[in-house]
Amino acid sequence: MRRPLPLTALLLVLAVTLGAQAPALDPATIARLREEATTRSQVYEHVWWLSEVFGPRVTGTPALTRASEWAMQKFRDWGLANVHQERWTFGQGWTINGFAATMLTPQPAVLIGAPRNYSPSTPGPITGDVVAVHIDRQGDFAKYVGQLRGKIVLMQPVRPVRMLEGPVILRMDEGNWWTEAANVPQVQPPRLPTPEERAELETRQALAAATRAFLVREEAAVLLERGADDDLSAGGSDLSWETQRVDGGTIFPGSGGSRDPQLPVQVPSATLAVEHYNRLVRLLERGQAVRMTVNIQTTFHPEGAEGNGLNTLAEIPGTDLAHEVVIVGAHMDGVPYATGATDNATGTAAMMEAVRAIQALKLRPRRTIRIALWGGEEQGLLGSRAYVARHYWDAAAKAPRPDHANVVAYFNLDNGTGRIRGIWGQGNTAALPMFEEWGAPLKDLGWRLASPRRVAATDHSSFDEVGLPGFQFIQERLEYNSRSHHSNMDTFDRVQKADVEQQGVVAAVFAWSAANSPERLPRRTPVRTTP
Ligand SMILES: [Zn+2]
Repeated sequence: MRRPLPLTALLLVLAVTLGAQAPALDPATIARLREEATTRSQVYEHVWWLSEVFGPRVTGTPALTRASEWAMQKFRDWGLANVHQERWTFGQGWTINGFAATMLTPQPAVLIGAPRNYSPSTPGPITGDVVAVHIDRQGDFAKYVGQLRGKIVLMQPVRPVRMLEGPVILRMDEGNWWTEAANVPQVQPPRLPTPEERAELETRQALAAATRAFLVREEAAVLLERGADDDLSAGGSDLSWETQRVDGGTIFPGSGGSRDPQLPVQVPSATLAVEHYNRLVRLLERGQAVRMTVNIQTTFHPEGAEGNGLNTLAEIPGTDLAHEVVIVGAHMDGVPYATGATDNATGTAAMMEAVRAIQALKLRPRRTIRIALWGGEEQGLLGSRAYVARHYWDAAAKAPRPDHANVVAYFNLDNGTGRIRGIWGQGNTAALPMFEEWGAPLKDLGWRLASPRRVAATDHSSFDEVGLPGFQFIQERLEYNSRSHHSNMDTFDRVQKADVEQQGVVAAVFAWSAANSPERLPRRTPVRTTP
């Protein structure tokens, strides 16, 4: 269904016919965009603000609200239209206010760590004995009854620390990455868990819940851990790459509570650097008494009537095809332990640069270009899902809303600081030639491939799963998986200036190309939008 054009759009159409607009995909316009987003790039500056001033931008906290207000002011300064926030139900937010962990005996030692996500506070600094607790089955609880009051509890064994000798930096020109990216993997039929496997999983989950409740009931003071057993991390999606996780003070904190205020509160907890945690365990194993002081200070932010969830939006209005929309987006929210520099100040800043560059050149796209900066990605793509549900997909009716037909493309950026090397096609093979055409003028900047592969686990999935054309760019991973992603070291120092500036150029060219292409980007599967 096509909508009648509003008066402003008609005037703009007149302006177009009078020659105020460059031809679609005019190489000179692409060259000007490249020039603007390269020589006057603001990406690096914006990453700095987003990470060092507003980081870590956790959803439901004042930090994300401040970052959103800052971005909206930028959009207004640049002259974008329809600058606004959309709120949605999230749950409680959570902020870390302070943390300290010091071993007192047998030797004083300052320990590196961070509160686990949604941990409650200790009542100020608490000093106590450190004890190792081993719960492998329900019968193990009995021997600890009455033993844990005021104690600092360790439940994991030592994790051996490997010297860094495998790949830590993931570069796509090394190994067989391109071959993998260019091919669609053989689809394996999903293997359902056997009844035994399901039963084992349920037993494990029940034991974990019972353990959390037991520590609260026994009034343990603090639970300390050292993170997951793995020292490798996957390259992303179903690709085969793995990188070695960095330790040496870099930690990947776990979960110690929930955004749902109805769920039971756990004992205060923190993740320590693996080497420091291992020392505590080894001392206890050799019969050394260990005493510590731990202070965990956090704030919960209750949800108000307007909702703690927050998306930030703005537009460059289209002209003759203004009802059709190209959306560029990235999640603005982050995890609480560092500054969210590579996850995802970089993607946010690059998408902001895309609209800034187009606007700075006073280019008028045919289709509307919208920027969407999501909240709640880290808790399960909540912001983009709320947006899609509100505007494009009626979940109750399992049917598209009218505007579903008008989304031409959603482009997402969320894999860190590395430059863009292509785009994941999400199985939409009909779209690949257009992506290759749009990427062709960017080859000297590193553009390589429109891949047929599907990837998941970030905000384009919210579009893709309801039949909307959502895509994630292919990026060099660099240290994303091994060091910066969700760690306490996701800092501005990890951001590669030339690479994030290239992201801004590619995002600008793709937004412009999709908004002005004579042919609309084809969809993967036709979706009926009329009853
Ligand atoms: Zn992310």
